[in-house]
Amino acid sequence: MSSSSSSSSLPPQTLKIGIVGFGTFGQFLAKTMIKQGHTTRATSRTDYSQLCHQLDVPFFRDVIPFLEADNDVILICTSILSLSEVLNSMPLRRLKRHTLFVDVLSVKEHPRNVLLRVLPENMDVLCTHPMFGPESGKNGWKDLPLVYEKVRVRDETRCSSFLHIFESKGCRMVEMSCEEHDKVAARSQFLSHSIGRILAEMGIESTSMNTKSFETLVKLKESTTNDSFDLFSGLFIHNRFAQQELMNLEQSFEKVKQRLLKKMSEQQSLSSV
Ligand code: NAP
Repeated sequence: MSSSSSSSSLPPQTLKIGIVGFGTFGQFLAKTMIKQGHTTRATSRTDYSQLCHQLDVPFFRDVIPFLEADNDVILICTSILSLSEVLNSMPLRRLKRHTLFVDVLSVKEHPRNVLLRVLPENMDVLCTHPMFGPESGKNGWKDLPLVYEKVRVRDETRCSSFLHIFESKGCRMVEMSCEEHDKVAARSQFLSHSIGRILAEMGIESTSMNTKSFETLVKLKESTTNDSFDLFSGLFIHNRFAQQELMNLEQSFEKVKQRLLKKMSEQQSLSSV
């Protein structure tokens, strides 16, 4: 893993970016790209024509003209669970030129494998994970991590120009293999989402006597349940390291519970003498 500057010696290019999946996260990224002067267009399962009209982003209901539009970059922002279905349904042979495919999925080995499987060999592949979302990134992206792996990059200038979108916003650029990302994310992001979901299941709510730690728990519950359940289950289903972490969580919960019960029975036997 390395924290690095990804810039090439050439000045960054203005890019034509085609976004696949214009849900919460796709829209969030598009707004910054537009502000930076890039040209965006979008396609999605849902009809976002009206919203796109307001944003001045051409929306393509039909994926063929989208693919035939002159895209430098195709940015995949679909859910983790729908990635294979979405890519398999795209007639990728209609691509007119060498394009950089970038994904932003919150797991990394899965999109890397799918992209390498379905894309023609002459397409470049950059796998990224912005470690923030519309809520945590609403006041700027400074110091927020952007994890990436240049999986198959021949056009370095175009790739650097894409990474510059994040670099110029002050993101911490972390170059890391997809495998390493998934290992670390299972023990950090998946774990925090799991605990947030457990707290939501318990129905915890803010009280009039919150400690700071309890406030942290309430915030965790709120931030994790703001994300879709598809996103959370994708973190589990398509990260091969997540199942072990779920078992670790269960075993650790059981160990803590057993320690408490043991202590309680020790206390009870002391007080009964
Ligand atoms: P999400 O629930 O993970 O994904 C929603 C997107 O997936 C929408 O564009 C939706 O299309 C599309 N989609 C879902 N099921 C589909 C299907 N069966 N066929 C075609 N398209 C389908 O929510 P999200 O927050 O927008 O995240 C998008 C991606 O960004 C995910 O891969 C996520 O892991 C990643 N990401 C999210 C965050 C975040 O904070 N939210 C941060 C970093 C990375 P329609 O809108 O057209 O229905």
